[in-house]
Amino acid sequence: MNYGEIKKIDIANGEGVRVSLFVSGCRVNCPGCFNKATWDFCYGKEFTKETEDELIAALSLDFISGLTVLGGEPFEPENQAVLSKFLSRVKKELPDKTIWCYTGYVYDKDILPEDGRKHTEYTQEMLDNINVLVDGPFIQELKDVSLKFRGSRNQRILKLN
Ligand code: SF4
Repeated sequence: MNYGEIKKIDIANGEGVRVSLFVSGCRVNCPGCFNKATWDFCYGKEFTKETEDELIAALSLDFISGLTVLGGEPFEPENQAVLSKFLSRVKKELPDKTIWCYTGYVYDKDILPEDGRKHTEYTQEMLDNINVLVDGPFIQELKDVSLKFRGSRNQRILKLN
């Protein structure tokens, strides 16, 4: 898995002050996507053990509420394979930190059902560790700048755990 960016202080993508990880690769292809460069799975740098350690250190600071994973698309199968293990590590080492995740897929249609197009052998582990999932594609016609933590009105903030 590659990633495009890490923000060690982010107040735009979830509650509190957060550390954000922007993973690379997305096949949702929303017209009006804010970050098309991240569609490419090779964009950015390789996500390594050192990257994990850097994120854990950043998350350990007292004023950090937790981790937000966005993209690109965290629920593309290639990314689930890596993120499922990393999110488990975060929850094990830092159980008080919350995990938010953004996806362009729809939770109860594409992700949760076993025959959903983005359900993989890694999905349940991902979902078990995510506290809040913001789901759904960005739809330009439903764009609303007054929404907190979302870009368009179809997107939902789902409290999972
Ligand atoms: S899911 Fe996100 S990264 Fe992917 S096309 Fe839609 S807005 Fe862009």
